[in-house]
Amino acid sequence: MGLYLGIDFGTSGARGVVIDEEGNIQHQARYPFGMSSDSNLARDWQVALFSLLEQIPGAIRQEIQAIAIDGTSSTVLLCDAAGNPVSAPLLYNDGRGAIMLDNLKSVAPPNHTVLSATSSLAKLLWMAQQPDFAQARYFLHQADWLAFLLHGQLGISDYHNVLKLGYDVEALKYPEWLEKLKIPIHLPQVSTPGTSIAEIHPEIAMQFRFSRNCLICAGTTDSIAAFIASGAKLPGEGVTSLGSTLALKLLSRTRVEDARYGIYSHRLGNLWLPGGASNTGGAVLRQFFTDAELEKFSREIDATKASDLDYYPLLKAGDRFPINDPNLPPRLEPRPDSPAEFLHGLLESIARIEARGYELLQQLGADKLNCVYTAGGGAANDTWTEIRKRYLQVPVVRPLHTEAAYGTAVLAMRGMRE
Ligand code: ADP
Repeated sequence: MGLYLGIDFGTSGARGVVIDEEGNIQHQARYPFGMSSDSNLARDWQVALFSLLEQIPGAIRQEIQAIAIDGTSSTVLLCDAAGNPVSAPLLYNDGRGAIMLDNLKSVAPPNHTVLSATSSLAKLLWMAQQPDFAQARYFLHQADWLAFLLHGQLGISDYHNVLKLGYDVEALKYPEWLEKLKIPIHLPQVSTPGTSIAEIHPEIAMQFRFSRNCLICAGTTDSIAAFIASGAKLPGEGVTSLGSTLALKLLSRTRVEDARYGIYSHRLGNLWLPGGASNTGGAVLRQFFTDAELEKFSREIDATKASDLDYYPLLKAGDRFPINDPNLPPRLEPRPDSPAEFLHGLLESIARIEARGYELLQQLGADKLNCVYTAGGGAANDTWTEIRKRYLQVPVVRPLHTEAAYGTAVLAMRGMRE
């Protein structure tokens, strides 16, 4: 039976998941990231990647037909002609590109997704100002470089990772305005996520005893991988991530973009994946409750009754989606004496923001919401699920799989065909 390996490089560690053709998990491996100095970061990723490969039992490794890798979006690095990093990678949340934004604004279309301090393009422009840029030949994303270690071909990416580099995912080409920047470096060639790039490099096949025919596929980003893991594949299916923050994605036939709300769309085969993220979410709950208290007090809540408390839970002022107001104050008053009542108000208020988020995506042209899959720490809270059903008015489903590595294994198995 054919097996497929998905590898996820997330924010806190790397994971590998091997699935069979029915989507059953055959093996899982983890590699937590420790503290790493900037200069060793890329080599630490390599150690993590090889450790995940070594953890897979030999008999399973032999049967793996395809491998794909996802990385954190806009984590990027420069390499020389042999693929060696010439400087430390810039991580997804590195804001040093901020000083390039004025320059970028003069070239990129208004409100474009590249116009953010953390975009891949802002980072590339910043890197181009540094002395070690002279040795650089290729600009790659984390997932591109890790895949290179397995197939040996430099300068290849996928249309998910390059979205924030300015690549036009609709026309499938780099736009003309990008050429005006005259960046003297190879921008990645762009493949469809999940399509085969090349057979595994013979040395890697021998070192790790993979089949010589094992294919290395174009990858994706960690949040799209998590979306794919949920199993959502039809227009109108949404995935809510209830983690530290609240992130929504709604699979649609229409592309939706609105920079005011930070909404942009990834391409997913013939469909689009618009999404937005709010600063509300589990991090605010954690300010008041431990996870054990969240479970205990949630059980005391009558989810069928609406709470009168109307909060806008934030850690600090400001939100973008579904309300675009950089000064929006956190609203957490009045606070009742009963912790369960307080929690009820918080869960209900976050559910209201979630429903408003999906409404906004639909107003801007996304398909009508007909089902919501839930991922993240809040997905396990059945009381919250009941409350959310009341606001969303569609089935709210807990998917079998939420791990990005699982989604990337699915991508290796069938690409963007479904
Ligand atoms: P992230 O990866 O975004 O940091 P996770 O998906 O791991 O977050 O989710 C962690 C969040 O889930 C925490 O902020 C916590 O408040 C929340 N959480 C944990 N348990 C529960 C629960 N039973 N009900 C609601 N929220 C919960």
